[in-house]
Amino acid sequence: MNPEEIAAVREDGAWLVRVTPDKQPLLRIEGDLERRGAGMFDKMNAIGAHELVSDTPEHARPWADFSPAHMAHLLGIYRARIADLRRDRRFRHAAVLKNHSALWSRYVHAHSHVIATPFVSKRVEEELAGAREYYRMKERCAFCDQLAEELQVDARVIVRNPDFVVFAPFASERPYEMWIAPLRHAADFGALPDRALLPLAELMVGALGRLRATVGHELGMEWATGIFSNPVPPEEAARRLKAAG
Ligand SMILES: [Zn+2]
Ligand SMILES: [Zn+2]
Repeated sequence: MNPEEIAAVREDGAWLVRVTPDKQPLLRIEGDLERRGAGMFDKMNAIGAHELVSDTPEHARPWADFSPAHMAHLLGIYRARIADLRRDRRFRHAAVLKNHSALWSRYVHAHSHVIATPFVSKRVEEELAGAREYYRMKERCAFCDQLAEELQVDARVIVRNPDFVVFAPFASERPYEMWIAPLRHAADFGALPDRALLPLAELMVGALGRLRATVGHELGMEWATGIFSNPVPPEEAARRLKAAG
């Protein structure tokens, strides 16, 4: 176990969730900024934060089997790490990564990653630019408008609680793609209030349980092959996922 601890949630002295520096980082926090190239990870000279999160003390417990209370601890850790990393003014973007049963995973213990980079990925930058343009034209939030449309159509809504909704988005790029969105406008996961962690955790755990009940373990294989064509329309995905609850 890596003795260098960045953050942890403990109960009676034992850790429930633990964050350490990634021993095999994709990006390093040390070093000078040096702009070069144009790709996602070679744009900067391997600078960034790469943290390894041990999601649970249990070796191989999948998120779908987490208690909502434990998932809320994990979400609270992500929120805290993002809040901390954004104080480092070199970073412009932070993300949480989780690969379920990924063939290429470098660690066997149940884990996830928090990374921060001094650049915004092209995909996120395009999404933000689109939302800014939408706001300029309509003076409304693009995501709230999309969500209102999903709620009205209802065919792609899978499950909801008073705070969040899970749906299969209209333009799903992958089979059984699910989005979880707050029902009231909120632009910043880092600013999520404590009382929202458990409702979000409940929906996440439930959604992953539905995914597993619907597709089993085949989906990870399909993603691993890099084939991103989507043979399952989102309405059909939502219907099956809804039935799996
Ligand atoms: Zn990993
Ligand atoms: Zn909004």
